[in-house]
Amino acid sequence: MTVGRFAPSPSGRMHLGNVFTALLAWLSVRSQGGEMLLRIEDLDPERSKGEYIEALRDDLRWLGLDWDREMPLQSTRAAAYAEAFAKLPTYPCYCTRSELHEASAPHASDGTFLYAGTCRDLTQAEREQKRRKPAWRVRVPDETVRFTDGVFGPQSENLATQCGDFIVRRSDGVYAYQLAVVCDDGFGGVTEVVRGSDLLGSTARQIFLYRTLGLPVPRFYHVPLLVAPDGKRLSKREKSLDMAHLRQNHSPQALLGRLAHLAGLTGNDAPVSAAELTAAFRWDKIGTEAVIIPADF
Ligand code: GLU
Repeated sequence: MTVGRFAPSPSGRMHLGNVFTALLAWLSVRSQGGEMLLRIEDLDPERSKGEYIEALRDDLRWLGLDWDREMPLQSTRAAAYAEAFAKLPTYPCYCTRSELHEASAPHASDGTFLYAGTCRDLTQAEREQKRRKPAWRVRVPDETVRFTDGVFGPQSENLATQCGDFIVRRSDGVYAYQLAVVCDDGFGGVTEVVRGSDLLGSTARQIFLYRTLGLPVPRFYHVPLLVAPDGKRLSKREKSLDMAHLRQNHSPQALLGRLAHLAGLTGNDAPVSAAELTAAFRWDKIGTEAVIIPADF
């Protein structure tokens, strides 16, 4: 059975971009008669706010995007992450942000720096001399991860030359998103991951973690970004596109009707419920091009 999930971060009110991702994740699962999970990613204690958690659930209900199970909040899952972390080939990294920049190799595939390996082979004595709390990196092999994204097609990334050893636990003790997402989706039995295309570049390292932890690898669908008419990415700062404003200006059906039409799911933008869209949904209607949102949305 298909098990899908929507995994929003409660760092702000839901935005039109999150609505789009949630809609496609939901349609994919419902059109296959699968199970939908809600998994709120409150991993980062500094950026997550309790008020947004309740707002997320309320906004999804208003949209008619229901879920069958809610997974535990990430803030309660440190023991599970610790267990997974212990199974990984990790080492402590003492580099400061500026040291990382100085020693940086070419950009890795997601725009972050490729780690130069400075702390990879420190001796125990060298580690003991360091005076700061380390972050922890996982040692990646010289191996190419290949997968076929359900929207973006065949992808490949060499872990050593395009990704580099990456952080799985930050120096403040918080486990990294890359590790948490794999533990949580693995634990939830998730078979398909639908999320924004900004995370396409994280997928190879997550597949490496799934394999290293002996968890089944889900299928991935990365959905195109929403952009303004000038081609610029819609930012969370555009308040008119957050759910507080969208709910004032649209009914759920009117909102979904316009969004579904802009995304190429339907032939017109007439109001439609999420449930009614299920029949019109097919992944091959979703292209890789960014979806342009008119200024008067
Ligand atoms: N929490 C992430 C976001 O809101 C999505 C992570 C994921 O779906 O893997 O962008």
